[in-house]
Amino acid sequence: MTRRTVVSGGVVVDGTGAVRRQADLLLVDDRIDAVVGPGELAGADARHVDASGLVVAPGFIDVHSHADGSFLLDGDASKILQGVTSEIVGNCGASLAPLGAATSHPTADRLVADGTRPTWQSVADLVEAGQDRHVTHVGTLVGHGTLRELVGGHASQAIDDHQRTAMRLALAAALESGAFGLSSGLVYAPGVFAPESELESLVEVLGAEHVYATHLRNESDQLMESIEEALRTTATTDAHVQISHLKATGRRNHGSTATALRRLDRARADGRTIGQDVYPYTAASTALTACLPPWALAGGTMALLARLADAGMVARLRAEVQSAPPHPWENPVASAHG
Ligand SMILES: [Zn+2]
Repeated sequence: MTRRTVVSGGVVVDGTGAVRRQADLLLVDDRIDAVVGPGELAGADARHVDASGLVVAPGFIDVHSHADGSFLLDGDASKILQGVTSEIVGNCGASLAPLGAATSHPTADRLVADGTRPTWQSVADLVEAGQDRHVTHVGTLVGHGTLRELVGGHASQAIDDHQRTAMRLALAAALESGAFGLSSGLVYAPGVFAPESELESLVEVLGAEHVYATHLRNESDQLMESIEEALRTTATTDAHVQISHLKATGRRNHGSTATALRRLDRARADGRTIGQDVYPYTAASTALTACLPPWALAGGTMALLARLADAGMVARLRAEVQSAPPHPWENPVASAHG
C-alpha cells in the first residue's frame, strides 16, 4: 500500500543552493513527490506532519565518517538523529575490509567498538554482515593501511613488488564487491611508510566511478607540499580525488588554507576532478600514536612498546616531540602549542 505523508509549515532548505523558503512537501513512500507552496496540501489524504518552526532539508551525506563499527550495531540511530542519512566510511587509510586470516588487524581493529570481532574478511562479507542492521545508507572506501596489513606490510617500512601486486588485486576485488574507492592516511602507520609510487600504483586501479580520499601526509608546516604530493600521485587517474578534512594545524600556519584552496581551484581549472571536505568545528582528534615520529612506529605495536620501555628512547622521543618547528613529520603536539 502506498504511504502518503505531508510535511507542512517548515522552512525548506533544499540543498541546491536555492534560497530557503516556506514550503510544504508531499512524500509518496520514501520519495519526495512534490514541493509546493504553504498550505497547498492542507486537504490531502495523507498523514500530516507539522514542521512549524523547523527546517526541512534532504538527508545529509557525511562523506568523511569514522563510524565504521557503528553500522554493525543493530539499529544504531546516532547519525540519523543528526540528520545524516548517508555516510562514507573506511576513511584515512583504515577500513574494516578486506582482512586476512590473521586474528589481529591493528588498523581495522581500532575502528570497531566494544570488542566486536570481525566475522568477515572481504568487502562482500562485510556488506553481508551489515545487511539490515544499519539505519543510514553506508558506503565504504578501502583503506590503504588495511591493504598493506593484508599483505603483511604493517610492520615493515617497505613492501616488495609481489606485495604491491597483491594489494592491487585485493583493491580490485573490493571495488568489484561494491567498495566506493580507496583512502589513505599518510600520518598513520603503516601509511606513513608508503612512498608515492606505492599510492600511485593503487590509484591506477581506480576508475572514473571511484573516489580516492587522502588524509594528507602533513596538514601543518608541509600542507602545500602534501597537496602537491596528492596531485602527483593522482595525475593520471579519472577517479574523483578528495582531500580529507582540509586544515592548517598550528597557529603559525593559520591562513594557509586560503593558499591551499587557491591551489585546488587551479587544479580544477586544469581539468582535475578534486574536492575537499572540512570539519564543521575547529577542534580535531587523532590517534595517540600519530603524536610520535614515524621511526618510533616502525615494526608495529610490539616494537613501539619495547621502545617505550627504554628510558633513553623515551628521552629521545620527548625531545623530538617537543622540539621547535619545522618538523620533518607532522607533529600534532607541537602544532597544538602554536
Ligand atoms: Zn583523517
